[in-house]
Amino acid sequence: MKPAAFDYLSPASVEEALALLTDLGEGAKPLAGGQSLVPLMNFRLVRPQHVVDLNGLRELDGIREDDGHLVIGAMTRQRAVETSALVSERCPLLAEAMPQIGHVQIRNRGTVGGSLAHADPAAELPAVVAALGGELIVRSTRGRRVIKAEQFFVGYLTTAARPGELLVEVRLPTSPPRTGTAFLEVSRRHGDFALVGVAATVTVDEAGVCTNAAIALTGVGPTPIVAHDAARALVGAKPAANAFDAAGRRVSDSVQPDSDLHASSEYRKHVAGVLTRRALAKAAARATAKEEAQR
Ligand SMILES: Cc1cc2nc3c(=O)[nH]c(=O)nc-3n(C[C@H](O)[C@H](O)[C@H](O)COP(=O)(O)OP(=O)(O)OC[C@H]3O[C@@H](n4cnc5c(N)ncnc54)[C@H](O)[C@@H]3O)c2cc1C
Repeated sequence: MKPAAFDYLSPASVEEALALLTDLGEGAKPLAGGQSLVPLMNFRLVRPQHVVDLNGLRELDGIREDDGHLVIGAMTRQRAVETSALVSERCPLLAEAMPQIGHVQIRNRGTVGGSLAHADPAAELPAVVAALGGELIVRSTRGRRVIKAEQFFVGYLTTAARPGELLVEVRLPTSPPRTGTAFLEVSRRHGDFALVGVAATVTVDEAGVCTNAAIALTGVGPTPIVAHDAARALVGAKPAANAFDAAGRRVSDSVQPDSDLHASSEYRKHVAGVLTRRALAKAAARATAKEEAQR
């Protein structure tokens, strides 16, 4: 199918894009990689009157380190993140999750900002950004706002960005010393959206005691779910199998996924627990290996 007719606009700067989005109001949609927007338009599930193409905005493309953070421009292609040495060194959780997004052809076009703004509850990037406590930077003609990941994702395909606001970059804290991370997911076939995915981080001190942990899940709710209680229970003790089991049970009991054509709610709850346990074990093993390497 072809999309309904629309006006195509190609601004040359972020300021121009913001002015267009403000002037045109809710009938305008930004176009990033088009990997979600174009199918939705083709199926006529979305009918924007104006499409504001962000692909000419070089200022939104790039990965840099800034004051203990990795800063990724909204128009950075997912494949560029996947193949970045800086990302794998400073933010290995993100590097591990990237290849699980669709297929390489999709990641060649799909952008970081597009995935986060689209806010698909089964997508990998929102869960990674939530696990890391990342911040989303949005701009409009009225100024700039910084939104914490947990406040950014507010519901199914819905974010806290207001009409006229453009997501311009995401800031992720870089991995502290003695931190291990892991991203695991189950999907029906390679390249499919995750039925359930888990992002986990574990940080240990010099004695090998856990000082911080984070768990975030995808596919089990309308937004990424951050399992604060299960993660907090790991802090203060050396990471151990029984603690990972307990965290898995806690997560499994607390999430309330919907059933759909692909999997029942019960199955997703079970997998959420199993993947939490395995991701924590993997992350802790990586943290401990780093700790030993630093002795
Ligand atoms: C076959 C297939 C399989 C896929 N599998 C997966 C998968 O396993 N996991 C996964 O996470 N994704 C998957 N995707 C989706 C893919 O990751 C998309 O790239 C992503 O969802 C959207 O990014 P995009 O750059 O293509 O954005 P677009 O499709 O251009 O835009 C998506 C939405 O975000 C808005 N938008 C875009 N950029 C901005 C911005 N800077 N500020 C504000 N709003 C903005 C658009 O207006 C639109 O509403 C798949 C896609 C396909 C076609």
